[in-house]
Amino acid sequence: MDNKSNYKYLLSDLSNLKGVGIKTKNLLVKKKINNIFDLLWKLPKSYTDRSLTSKVKDLHIGENQTITVIPKKFFFPRIRNLPNRVLCSDETGEIDCVFFNSYEGYIKKILPIGKEVTISGKIGFFRNKYQLTNPKYVSEDSSLIRQKHNSYSLTEGISEKIYNKIINQIIENLPILEEWHSKNVLNKFNNISWNASIKELHKPENIGKYKEKFYQRLAYDEIFSTFLVNSEIRKKIKKIKKKSKIFNIQDQEKIIQNLNFLLTNDQRKCLDEINKDLYSSTKMFRLLQGDVGSGKTIVSLLSAHNTINSGCQVAFMAPTEILAKQHFDFAKKIFPKNFKIEFISGKSNYKNKNDVLKRLLSNEIDIIFGTHAIFQKKIVFKNLGLIIIDEQHKFGVNQRKKLSDKGGDNCDVLLMTATPIPRTLTMTIYGDMDLSIIREKPRSRKPIKTYSKLESKIDEVINFIKKQIKLENQIFWVCPLIDESKKLDHASAIKKYEFLKKIFPNRVSLIHGKTSSEDKEAILDNFLKKKFDILVSTTIIEVGIDFPNANVIIIENANKFGLSQLHQLRGRVGRGKKDSTCIMLFKSNLSENAKKRINILKNSNDGFEISEEDMKIRGFGDVLGFKQSGIKNFKLADPIHNSDLFLLAEKEIKRIEKNNEDISKFKPLIKLYDRADIINDIA
Ligand code: ADP
Ligand code: MG
Repeated sequence: MDNKSNYKYLLSDLSNLKGVGIKTKNLLVKKKINNIFDLLWKLPKSYTDRSLTSKVKDLHIGENQTITVIPKKFFFPRIRNLPNRVLCSDETGEIDCVFFNSYEGYIKKILPIGKEVTISGKIGFFRNKYQLTNPKYVSEDSSLIRQKHNSYSLTEGISEKIYNKIINQIIENLPILEEWHSKNVLNKFNNISWNASIKELHKPENIGKYKEKFYQRLAYDEIFSTFLVNSEIRKKIKKIKKKSKIFNIQDQEKIIQNLNFLLTNDQRKCLDEINKDLYSSTKMFRLLQGDVGSGKTIVSLLSAHNTINSGCQVAFMAPTEILAKQHFDFAKKIFPKNFKIEFISGKSNYKNKNDVLKRLLSNEIDIIFGTHAIFQKKIVFKNLGLIIIDEQHKFGVNQRKKLSDKGGDNCDVLLMTATPIPRTLTMTIYGDMDLSIIREKPRSRKPIKTYSKLESKIDEVINFIKKQIKLENQIFWVCPLIDESKKLDHASAIKKYEFLKKIFPNRVSLIHGKTSSEDKEAILDNFLKKKFDILVSTTIIEVGIDFPNANVIIIENANKFGLSQLHQLRGRVGRGKKDSTCIMLFKSNLSENAKKRINILKNSNDGFEISEEDMKIRGFGDVLGFKQSGIKNFKLADPIHNSDLFLLAEKEIKRIEKNNEDISKFKPLIKLYDRADIINDIA
């Protein structure tokens, strides 16, 4: 194979390398290093530039410094105002890492006992010992530390000597790939080629120089290729020809007139965008994005209505039966009487289900609501024209594409999500879809009054709740999992349930992760029917369900949640006409930083704004929905530090789309970077 200009060398098997036998190969494969390209992103330990880091004994108090240490012991005092502490050391001395407002699971994860880690921050001195408060760059987001970290785990079982031999070989044989970026873009990186950038990346003295052009270029390659793949998927889907849906828009207006509210301008705008897509002769693949309570359901139902009017069937999928049932009830209320509306439940008996299947196949059902059950293989539609999916933020690019394929060419696809994401991430996460955004909340909607309170003042909270119950209002009480990493620890919710039950006998119920989905649905249903007043739960209550009568939410240990998550939680109330309240409980007085965060929540009701702030504070990995969305992790790019590169890539993609540019020159880029192999047939 001609290495010199062929990207295929990089995708070839590890055993093609001298010095890589079966044993080494297996070790690497275990680390998810499957080919030569993967190896490029793992920098060996010996490349870690020790000159950047200091030994404990040489630390300078008051300066920002980086050290490599081994965590020795955790100190998690359960006393208010005392921070968590991790004693760390290197061969020259000891240093305390001190954490305010970080939970134990997190600390244990980033500073595992006995494992070497590199951290940085301002060096302090306290009680005769060096101290690092809230160490920076411990997170995996930091390219500098991440590489060192990876190199650490990588060398398990592989000697440095062998490793160096392998990597030198690769660098020597690195193909000189034809440039894929436009002149304009390349210029921004001082015209450094991919090949040269990789070589720079592997120079010991360049470790951590993520502001340098070589690094920026490589980060940009990652971002751009992700966007490009998304854009290609979108283009491909949009090219699919379908039968245009013809419907009478007057019928839609009749429904709107009969609603007991006015549509917001944004709801109108989104509805118009969807209608245009329904009418067009190419397939729709659109995401309706809008904060909790922005009123996405009515927009989707009106699109469903128009689709039915054009003679097609609609499938409407929600994550839980309760939510599906709510949408079903809403549809029954607003749709014309001659529409045949059906709801399929897991509980429906066999005969019932068979009957539904038959009627779907013979076009005797216009729209069916249900959970993922409505997409089972057995279910065949006579003439499916639109799939609507509510609140499936866990769907990644691959799943969405499969879904779109499943509906067939004539079937439009509309996804809805209440997970607002920062601007820079939109193309990363949703770049394969067209986007309609509802930013405006219904005018009648009152902001949720948001307070923070010390847990020691729980009596005041209880009194407040008593008053609310007298007013016939209902309350959510949310307890976080004690140990996030175990995901199973419901102790705090159970304890709180027992506590509240004594004060409010027969008026409290509990759901948590171990509650069976059947029980859960039943409890939620009873809550809707006001059979009890207080629902204690972990964070498992699904989004989207309308509890018009619940207007208070108490969130315990609120510092364990990210801002976006708190915002989502509080969005469970305030959907009705009443004034609503969110009370966040804290175990101890808030630090200045925590106060700042909480104030963002108190002052803003805009999920988009909050998610931007959240990302800045917690890093993008924690923004709700991002982790779950199935998006691959970037190796070098960082949505916070490289937001300019994200915007540049977006601009470039739009330019390429507009000019209908031939993308075959990007083939090596896509082949190398698109590991999911989503588009496998580029020119
Ligand atoms: P989400 O966007 O979170 O799915 P929903 O569609 O469930 O929000 O709407 C929340 C509540 O607001 C519902 O009770 C819905 O009927 C109501 N609603 C929707 N649009 C409006 C509007 N323009 N004005 C007033 N209430 C509205
Ligand atoms: Mg909803």
